[in-house]
Amino acid sequence: MYNTWEELTQACQECHKCGLCETRHNVVVGVGSKDAEVMFIGEGPGENEDLQGEPFVGRAGKLLDKMLTAVDLDRSKNIYIANIVKCRPPQNRDPKPEEQQMCIDWLRTQVKLMRPKIIVCLGRIAAGRIIKSDIKITREHGQWFEKGGIQMMAMLHPAAVLRDPRKKPEAFDDFLKLRDKINEICDHTY
Ligand code: SF4
Repeated sequence: MYNTWEELTQACQECHKCGLCETRHNVVVGVGSKDAEVMFIGEGPGENEDLQGEPFVGRAGKLLDKMLTAVDLDRSKNIYIANIVKCRPPQNRDPKPEEQQMCIDWLRTQVKLMRPKIIVCLGRIAAGRIIKSDIKITREHGQWFEKGGIQMMAMLHPAAVLRDPRKKPEAFDDFLKLRDKINEICDHTY
């Protein structure tokens, strides 16, 4: 068990618990404010993230940042972003259930240290792992779920929005719902 971010980060960066360690360049632990009230969770690093060691830095990340900015959120100020698996699955395939299982303790510790009030899951894999296994992301994104005293919402993955720009308005609607929830329950995000 890790009691500080420093201990957690160091141990996570040295992790060899699953086979993804063999092909990674960097362990992508997370980015953002460590006392954030809002945590975003994606599925895993892609190529750019693996090379730079930071989540959501490619094209999808740029779109995410744009939508975050529109509701006064910023990875360098008032949110934290992490992933289900911290090392890149080869060819950007979905992380296997056993890889998720091996890695999830790092995320659990991050949640424990941060104690967010809101968790936003980006995409089907993260939402299925964190919110409920049978979540239908196309139907249930933008809805609030409560688990363990934390408000949770699934959003469309920004890469899916890039693939189908017609989804932009409904994706952005979810950010507006998030802003409303932050105003309702958070103390220092805005
Ligand atoms: S993906 Fe997670 S469990 Fe697997 S090696 Fe990387 S940090 Fe460890």
